[in-house]
Amino acid sequence: MNVKNLRLINFRNYYNLNVEFNDNINIFMGKNAQGKTNLIEALYICSYGKSFRTTKDRELINFNKEQAYIGANTKLNNLEKFIEVKMERDKPKRIRINKSELKNYKELNTGLVSVLFCPDDLKMIKEGPLLRRNFLDASISQIKPVYSYNLIRYNKVLMQRNNLLKTCRIKKDLVNLIDVFDIQLSKLGTSIIIERDKFINELNILINPIHKNLTCDKESVELKYFSNIPRLIDKESIEKEYLKLLKSNLNRDIEYGTTEIGLHRDDLLMLINNKDVKIYGSQGQQRTLVLSIKLSVVEYIKKYFGVYPVVLLDDVFSELDEDRRKFLSNSFKNMQVFITVTDAVDLNAVNDLSKSVFIIEDGK
Ligand code: ATP
Ligand code: MG
Repeated sequence: MNVKNLRLINFRNYYNLNVEFNDNINIFMGKNAQGKTNLIEALYICSYGKSFRTTKDRELINFNKEQAYIGANTKLNNLEKFIEVKMERDKPKRIRINKSELKNYKELNTGLVSVLFCPDDLKMIKEGPLLRRNFLDASISQIKPVYSYNLIRYNKVLMQRNNLLKTCRIKKDLVNLIDVFDIQLSKLGTSIIIERDKFINELNILINPIHKNLTCDKESVELKYFSNIPRLIDKESIEKEYLKLLKSNLNRDIEYGTTEIGLHRDDLLMLINNKDVKIYGSQGQQRTLVLSIKLSVVEYIKKYFGVYPVVLLDDVFSELDEDRRKFLSNSFKNMQVFITVTDAVDLNAVNDLSKSVFIIEDGK
């Protein structure tokens, strides 16, 4: 899969940009605050329908303008797609593929699938479980759009249940209505848990050869799925147990006004040589693990989608040592990659690959 070209109008600090890309390595080189990450962000939006830096679309529009536009031609095998994103101040953005408007961003994966590597990835290890759940959700959604559809529905039902729990404290007879939500939560929740379980098992298989290579065979990795719902032998048994747990916890839930049981409390434990890397890992170990995790997602997408995703590397390359840069570059031989670097970094690691270097200066 690759992006052939990108057109930007009034997007961040780009007034008018038209650029053709290399099928392999594309390097955005420039000093700080010139527009390198803005380009990565525009590509990311074409793939995920939203930015990784902000939830406020109006921030994407140039300070002096009312509208912005992103257009990208992508190619998957011999199938070409034209993705367009139109942003207007105070209106929801509109996304089209081949001129037809998308009702749901999940269809975007027919146009562009990408994996982003950025310094914030480290937070996935250092911070709370929310970022790890977001990582699971974003990765699985790219391959299985129905997963994100179920997740949106789950979160809606969860919110309704939580609202009702609070009302039940005053109007006790409403407690009977909770059953309806519990049935929906256990059904949707079970299908999500099964997908998370499958994904983590797959990742465990893919990550070890990658991580061993990156650490000269010194470290083994295990990713462990932690959930307060037991994963039993089949779907029906999980659903039944899920429902039972929701019911047995009901009084506590009413007291606190929130649902304790469910996948919204899941976590992903990351072990290096059997030790929790969040607690015991050095900074370097944590960084390397993040790299291995992201590379295994790239392989996961290749396995299930049939083609490699486009890889977006923002501010990551310059922070790696020469060996890791070489390893990374070798992993990127057969895919399209976008890399931001400041002008000081040396590009020895990608010398053998087909590459284009774009010098970025003040949105040009
Ligand atoms: P660094 O090396 O520091 O990461 P960068 O080249 O990645 O820099 P970007 O994050 O792409 O820099 O941002 C470049 C510039 O875009 C910044 O100076 C910022 O002020 C500007 N910018 C951000 N949003 C807008 C906007 N809506 N309108 C105009 N300019 C903007
Ligand atoms: Mg940047």
